[in-house]
Amino acid sequence: MKKITTRFAPSPTGYLHIGNIRTALYSWLFARKNKGNFILRIENTDFKRSKKIFIKNIIDTLKWLNIDWDKGPYLQSKRINRYNSIINTMLNEGKAYKCYCSKEELEKNKKKQIINKEKIKYNGKCFNNKLKVNKQLPYTVRIHIPKNKYITFIDTIRGKIIIDNNELDDFIIKRTDGMPTYNFCVVIDDWDMKITHVIRGEEHINNTPKQIHIINAVGANIPIYTHVSIITDKLGKKISKRNNNLDILKYKKKGYLPIALLNYILRLGWSYGNKEIFSLKEMKKLFNLKNLNKSSSIFDIDKLNWFNKYYLSKLSKSEMLNYLENFCNKNNININNGPKLKNLYTIFNKRFNTLEEINNLCFIFYKNPNYNNLLIKNYLNINTQIILELFKLKITNIKLWSIEYINNIFNKILLKLNISYKEIAMTLRLAITGIKNTPPINHIIYLMGKKKTLYHINNAINFIQLK
Ligand code: GLU
Ligand code: ZN
Repeated sequence: MKKITTRFAPSPTGYLHIGNIRTALYSWLFARKNKGNFILRIENTDFKRSKKIFIKNIIDTLKWLNIDWDKGPYLQSKRINRYNSIINTMLNEGKAYKCYCSKEELEKNKKKQIINKEKIKYNGKCFNNKLKVNKQLPYTVRIHIPKNKYITFIDTIRGKIIIDNNELDDFIIKRTDGMPTYNFCVVIDDWDMKITHVIRGEEHINNTPKQIHIINAVGANIPIYTHVSIITDKLGKKISKRNNNLDILKYKKKGYLPIALLNYILRLGWSYGNKEIFSLKEMKKLFNLKNLNKSSSIFDIDKLNWFNKYYLSKLSKSEMLNYLENFCNKNNININNGPKLKNLYTIFNKRFNTLEEINNLCFIFYKNPNYNNLLIKNYLNINTQIILELFKLKITNIKLWSIEYINNIFNKILLKLNISYKEIAMTLRLAITGIKNTPPINHIIYLMGKKKTLYHINNAINFIQLK
């Protein structure tokens, strides 16, 4: 049996989004499950829209997600000679021909067909006129499609698909500028790279009959196709490259774990009974094409968050510290600006559930609060200033910095001003962190240290006085 070989073949015309990565993941898992090869190919024949930064984005994204490839990245732009030499052979064999029709002429035919309510197709004029042309004119190369026949192919999800050749015209495989067209390059690459299974987005299903005609013309084998259903947003709109918000690497910056994203994307279009959580090992073992969904999938950030929360809770202490450090680096949070992460971890002694919690926590210790929000503005006033002044006075004289001592000060203020614990805590919380919901404020103050706590309190008092 032939070695199972799949490929991921993105065009570098935008940042990779969830849909791209899903076909990458499925192709990769299918190869891994079958001990086959997975190839990375960059389809950059559209020179105008292809950009180097997007090639970098493809590679960085796959690396971050730990999707490894066995061969490549192959760049189509480096294979133009190969494509053209096959086109020359097809011309010699009469499987393709040069079309000298001008744009105007083609346009005229098109208009006629529209008026006559006919299907828009090239009329085959240059096939019939092969010998009578002026060789100096610019030309395209068209493939000749035999009439009155049909082709069939199997799509894993949709079953057998039959297409009447009369539905297609002799389409262009090489443009006037000498560049082979997209469908042509895909076929030659899949042939040369010995691809056995093509797993790609549903939007390519209309290209498949054209590609099969080229396959037949060059004598290649027809691979097994799997066209994966689309992903929409909650409103039912298709997710596309133009929507930059879906750039996968943004999730890296936000602090999502790669395994959480992979697990989420795996489930977005594939199922295995009721199982939700799949380790990498399980994915590679259990993935199959049979269980892919026929219907479209909806991108749901809450579900992604659920996976991320699950995987965060599974991190060991050292993994978690590593993760926090990375998170701070990515978000330009200077961890030298406050307590050691190691200490934060032990004192809170709890797992983080959401990225927001982590973000807030880092914010508290390594950045300065911004008092200019309405809630804080209202809260920090001459009444609460008394609390701040008293607290400042008491901690200035502290010799031994401990939680017990801080608690003690809280009690003293409470008695002296005859106010609730809640009120003291909220005042200090807003003055020191600028955030309404935080872990216990006495712990935060302890971790923050005396110097930094005094610094924030002085700032808050200044803020009140300037109001
Ligand atoms: N380059 C195509 C894309 O990015 C994929 C083509 C294919 O998988 O056959 O959509
Ligand atoms: Zn022509």
